[in-house]
Amino acid sequence: MTDKLTKESILAALSKVQEPELRKDLVTLNMVRNLEISGGNVSFTVMLTTPACPLRGQIEKEAKQAVLALGAKSVQVKLDSDVPNDGRMRGLVNMPIRNAIAVGSGKGGVGKSTVAVNIAVALAQTGARVGLLDADIYGPNIPTMLGVEKLPPPNGNKLVPAQAYGLKMISMGLLVKPGQPLIWRGPMLNSAIRQFLGDVEWGELDYLIVDLPPGTGDAALSLAQALPLSGAVIVTLPQLVSLEDASRGLQMFRTLEVPILGVIENMSYLDLPDGTRMDIFGSGGGEQLAQATETLFLGKIPIDQNVRIGGDSGRPVIVSNPDSPVAKALAEIAQKVAAQISIAAMSGKNELPINIVE
Ligand code: ADP
Repeated sequence: MTDKLTKESILAALSKVQEPELRKDLVTLNMVRNLEISGGNVSFTVMLTTPACPLRGQIEKEAKQAVLALGAKSVQVKLDSDVPNDGRMRGLVNMPIRNAIAVGSGKGGVGKSTVAVNIAVALAQTGARVGLLDADIYGPNIPTMLGVEKLPPPNGNKLVPAQAYGLKMISMGLLVKPGQPLIWRGPMLNSAIRQFLGDVEWGELDYLIVDLPPGTGDAALSLAQALPLSGAVIVTLPQLVSLEDASRGLQMFRTLEVPILGVIENMSYLDLPDGTRMDIFGSGGGEQLAQATETLFLGKIPIDQNVRIGGDSGRPVIVSNPDSPVAKALAEIAQKVAAQISIAAMSGKNELPINIVE
């Protein structure tokens, strides 16, 4: 049987294995690397487009089975990842940042910062290189949520981000004295933002998560314009009033030609100890917004007091209560966001050369 084991036959077999999110096969996507055949033993690496790939187990299993079916004695599949670059020049932010994802909302208090922090930590936990830019200059509360009190000393004239839970973070809140009000208007706002974006030593990042100010005011607009964004996610509550605001926020990104990666509904429901579920803020709004605006619905996040407790104590719920339904919902949403980024970056790039080491 082993005479069937040639690199051509193996690649032909692997070209029948689909990457379920990208809907193309592993060979077309140039994901098969370092293919080695020794006697009846085969090994290769599958290079995924994100370490946060939710279906990595399935891909590994199908790839292995496809080669075993050719008669291989053993098949070793190694999973690795290389996050694609969105191809945008980030002029101001002169750093190798592959993707920048804005988290926006129509109004404050819907959990935008909470979602930004937990998505960022979830992606960092998968092994991705993640930065978190707290650009919510009116309420920069991410330092509190991550338990960070100050930045490391600057490197020359560059700001060095703080490190927490495997990610790098910078916040306008760490650049002003505690208690000092942040009042930014017009040109001052613009130059502060440009400086803030340009002076940070991020290093190489797979994902920069940007927590934008709520709404569609000057600050949100300046930021979204100053930083080329790969895409934006919109956080909303399930009720109708919030939806109108969220829809305005979504339109702002569309006007700026920032792709909408999807809608997240936060504080969707509360599960009570007796097993009943309460829709405190109404229901179905996020799905409705996604449908009305033809965007993807990324998921619902339940209400859980551990979210607030985690935020107040500097331990995001995804770290403090990783097995809770709310943490699982957040982790799943982070994976979906990463998948959307991969899909956007890979669309059109399907004729890459195959790299084989024998
Ligand atoms: P925003 O950034 O939109 O102003 P925050 O992320 O600061 O909102 O959240 C507002 C408050 O709501 C915080 O106290 C936060 O801990 C709490 N919160 C957010 N999401 C949830 C949730 N799913 N369950 C419980 N509390 C939440």
